[in-house]
Amino acid sequence: MACVFCSIVAGTTPAAVVFGDSQFMAFLDVRPLFPGHTLLMPLQHHETLADLPPDLVGPLFLRARTLQTVMEQAMGAQGAFIAVNNRVSQSVPHLHVHVVPRTKGDGLRGFFWPRTKYASDAEMADTAARLAASYDQLST
Ligand code: AMP
Repeated sequence: MACVFCSIVAGTTPAAVVFGDSQFMAFLDVRPLFPGHTLLMPLQHHETLADLPPDLVGPLFLRARTLQTVMEQAMGAQGAFIAVNNRVSQSVPHLHVHVVPRTKGDGLRGFFWPRTKYASDAEMADTAARLAASYDQLST
């Protein structure tokens, strides 16, 4: 199936480009949460953050970091929400970082996620141990 973000890279789908270099480009989300909502993506097609080659992870987030400051300077935002949907809630399966300008009281209600609680301290400790074991396995 054709990837719409690859077609933006190829120039066959138009986009309002914020920046582009040899490895990444950023462009305006066509249906922004707020004006200035930008999508930052690698030019190469990788579906999720876990699929991104390790040597591109740092450069990707350096550019996301710059875009936070851009939101503040160019859009007059007080801050930025920076997020990546991976598979779940990901409508375009080409990795992209949402950089959304935020201002206190801007009314963004979609991110008041319902919070839960651990049933006990033991359940919380068990969960942390499970994650830690998996992390150790992946990082050795
Ligand atoms: P996600 O649901 O996290 O995968 O985000 C995909 C985003 O891409 C959505 O916010 C869409 O509005 C945006 N989008 C989809 N197609 C285009 C396009 N051709 N140009 C700009 N933004 C797009």
